[in-house]
Amino acid sequence: MRYTLFTLPLAFLLSFSSTQAQDEAEILKHFHSITAEEVFSYAKALSEPKFDGRLAGSPGYTKSAEWVAAHLKKWNIKPGYGESYFKHFQQDYTVVKSTGALSIQLFDKKGNSIEKSYSFPEHYFPGSNSANGTIEGELVYVGYGITAPVHHYDDYKNVDVKGKIVLIEPGHPKPETAKEWNDWAAFAGSSEKMTNALNHGAKGVLYISKLASPGMKYHDGLVYCHVDKKVVEELFFARNLDYSKVKDTLTSKNKSQSQTLGHKASITAETEYHPNGSYANVIGVIPGSDPVLKDEVIMVGAHLDGQGNLGELFPGALDNASGVADIMAAARALTKLPAPKRTIAFFFIGAEEKGLLGAFEYAKEPLFPKEKTICYINLDMVGNGTGLYFGGGKSFPDIFKHFEEANARYIHRPLKTRHLNRSYKGRPRTDGMALSQEGFRALSVHCTDRIKKLYYHHPADTYETLVPEIMEDVSKWLYLGLYSLANAETIDLTEVTDEE
Ligand SMILES: [Zn+2]
Repeated sequence: MRYTLFTLPLAFLLSFSSTQAQDEAEILKHFHSITAEEVFSYAKALSEPKFDGRLAGSPGYTKSAEWVAAHLKKWNIKPGYGESYFKHFQQDYTVVKSTGALSIQLFDKKGNSIEKSYSFPEHYFPGSNSANGTIEGELVYVGYGITAPVHHYDDYKNVDVKGKIVLIEPGHPKPETAKEWNDWAAFAGSSEKMTNALNHGAKGVLYISKLASPGMKYHDGLVYCHVDKKVVEELFFARNLDYSKVKDTLTSKNKSQSQTLGHKASITAETEYHPNGSYANVIGVIPGSDPVLKDEVIMVGAHLDGQGNLGELFPGALDNASGVADIMAAARALTKLPAPKRTIAFFFIGAEEKGLLGAFEYAKEPLFPKEKTICYINLDMVGNGTGLYFGGGKSFPDIFKHFEEANARYIHRPLKTRHLNRSYKGRPRTDGMALSQEGFRALSVHCTDRIKKLYYHHPADTYETLVPEIMEDVSKWLYLGLYSLANAETIDLTEVTDEE
């Protein structure tokens, strides 16, 4: 099906004129009430130290969930769970009290050595779930750190790591097909790699990927931190070895490159493990007004949790205070309009950074039946760029048209869409993908053409990196698109595949 430019405004007006006694002026009045200042203020507030980076399980996350719920309440958005906006889940977490320390005594081949101290955040990040303490040990490079008998692959085959510290790469050997990627998923997770290192007798890990990673599980007695590639290059260089060649053989030839490096490392982590924390998924609802269609639900959501505090605050402004803020402003404006035919639900998800846990928990016990859920629209890191993107719009043109028309008529940003990606490689990486895997029609909203530097899982992901103007437009776009979709007489949910 095609939509020409000429049919867009008309179709848009028609879908609005069929809403109960509300003219375009009313919709536009509240449309204009959404400002860059408003949207930005929510993202800025959520990035504040009082929420401590919103780590799922921790008190900081709970405070942020209460903060969001207080706004929903103020705007008369109904609690999703009876009297409550919350559905609670048990969640362990680790308090990281300082950025810790990393030093390495580098030996050349002749046995001469120098001691190097590294610094945060330039060279290393502390582990989000490291055990407490200082460990020292010889360094052994173990590539991906994978032992997978079914794939006849073992990075520990020719090395002894007992009592030593291992250097581990993210990822796994690259198979050809998407299906085979899934076969490696059980070995590729960082938590599985930590368990494998422990099983081989290692007492610590340097993980070669310098970012905050709250999803790595806590292992009693295992001290670890994340190191920058530059540090690893140095370690190889000191032994007259070329790290890029080693890495290339590992990644392009799928050949294990494990070797003892001979250097001695010392890692200090100052942490406190809390097995009994909790987090909540937060849901607010604008109930539909049509006697029949009100049972159908349009969900829009964003993960509220972040990476916490690793001895320094990780504000998580773009990831994902931005997505939460975009939705909040749209939700507030939507409450000013007459109730739409269908129900609209706002879903603020917890424990995404812990491994999409909140999304999977929702799928286990959905508040709204799956068959009554028209779609779930996910926002993650939506606050930097100049263009708009609607993931899955080509698969569901009858959903997408409401957003396409809203943009063409009132937002005027470049807008791209694609088919739903049903054959992604490996494990799902967003709440949308998690819900899609569980059988929901999960679409996504993004920005394109980033104009500020991206600091992913980094302490510099502050509110200064956000672009308030695009956030305002995303919020306005959601407001119009959601209201139009929720009021549509019919929605054709036939999925268009990209095979034609
Ligand atoms: Zn995110």
